[in-house]
Amino acid sequence: MIKLYNTLTNQKEEFHSQEKGKIKMYNCGPTVYDYAHIGNMNAFLVADILRRYLEYKGYEVRQIMNITDVGHLTADDINQADTGEDKMLKAALREKKTPAEIAEYYTQVFFYDIDKLNIKRAAYYPRATAHIGQMIKIIEKLIQNGLAYEANGNVFFDVEKFEGYGKLSKKKIDELKVGARLEEHPDKKNQWDFALWLRAPQKHLLKWESPWSVGYPGWHIECSAMSMEYLGETLDIHTGGEDHIFPHHENELAQSEGATGKPLAVCWLHNRFLLVDGQKMSKSKGNYYILKDIADRGYDLMAFRLLVLSSHYRSNLNFTWRAMSQAESNLEKIENFAENLKRFQAEPFKDIDDRCADINSYIERFEKTMDDDLNTPKALSVLYEMISKTNATIAEGKMDSAEAKKISQAWEKMNKVFGLKIKSKRDGIPLDIKELGRKRLAERIKQNFKEADLIREEIEKAGYLVEDLKDNNYSIKKK
Ligand SMILES: [Zn+2]
Repeated sequence: MIKLYNTLTNQKEEFHSQEKGKIKMYNCGPTVYDYAHIGNMNAFLVADILRRYLEYKGYEVRQIMNITDVGHLTADDINQADTGEDKMLKAALREKKTPAEIAEYYTQVFFYDIDKLNIKRAAYYPRATAHIGQMIKIIEKLIQNGLAYEANGNVFFDVEKFEGYGKLSKKKIDELKVGARLEEHPDKKNQWDFALWLRAPQKHLLKWESPWSVGYPGWHIECSAMSMEYLGETLDIHTGGEDHIFPHHENELAQSEGATGKPLAVCWLHNRFLLVDGQKMSKSKGNYYILKDIADRGYDLMAFRLLVLSSHYRSNLNFTWRAMSQAESNLEKIENFAENLKRFQAEPFKDIDDRCADINSYIERFEKTMDDDLNTPKALSVLYEMISKTNATIAEGKMDSAEAKKISQAWEKMNKVFGLKIKSKRDGIPLDIKELGRKRLAERIKQNFKEADLIREEIEKAGYLVEDLKDNNYSIKKK
């Protein structure tokens, strides 16, 4: 039985789907007016690993992830910023494109990125702009139920009228009054009420007809509308990053439950933030990375997937370039292991002793750790133990085809969940030479060309050549 940590109940609990063998899972997806950063990718990977493990356990998972292509989304650090700037307008001005072109471009980049990370595609990726009608229907229902009010073409959710507001984030309205940095809006009855519909200012690019005004929906209503449309009124699992607990998910819950009278989700699963060098990632601190930055430094993106696996989703993953190098070296270790096993499967059959019993115990331990709230770092340590034992058996000359096959099967079973795409042939460049290549690139980016040249000499002395390509790319070849 799998146990998951449920934010709603604040505890690790046995997970039961509503319908036997079937799971309805909703994940908050990307906003498509900019590149998704590696923190977003971490959240998408956690959702993917969860889905893979549920499928491993025999569930049929219907996964829906929304694409936010409405431009009013506000900065992460501003709570309930209902009067926030039009990010789509900003991006449109910056890139001289229409909002639709911008959304399409970044949506394609998103799919490119998740494919690179071997993230399974969801059943469907609904776009917010295609579901305005559904959002309006929910808002009408909320007004009918006395939970929302209209003022000057704007509609707000009346937080005090919804019993249980704060049950997900464990925030009390009293605390909101004092603590939160809530955005002012002249038409709000209370500061902590949040927007369901807003009258559009003249310059707003995306706006729609509604019973209240030509305007645009509030941030949170899209997830209520799309989860209901594709998965029904009660989800089995709703996931997202911890930054979504409040206000986004708290408000989503209030809207959906306020409209249907039913629970929005059985289990709410949230991953902790990804940190960079122990700090919160931000553009102003210069520690903000997108996936392309990792690829540009010559890393295999599977190493990023492995890095995410090596940290539990409920602890902060600390991203550093050193950790990336370590992850890449672990990935190579796994690849060599997989390659060796293939080689031995062609070997002649030797006598089998009771080693096969060990192999079953690896799978048992793997499942036990994954059942325990998806403990991927522990599950990986089971794999590493199996690798080390296998290497020893090979070194002793005791490996035979039957055992190699059995280990291979165990590895493939585990990897259905880990989701690592294994290259059968590496480029043959040693990791320390690759590391020098990255160091050299870092110096070049900082315009320290003298240091960069010294590193080039070091690489050449070791018998390799560096060739610079455009866009900070480079390749290393054997001389
Ligand atoms: Zn959402």
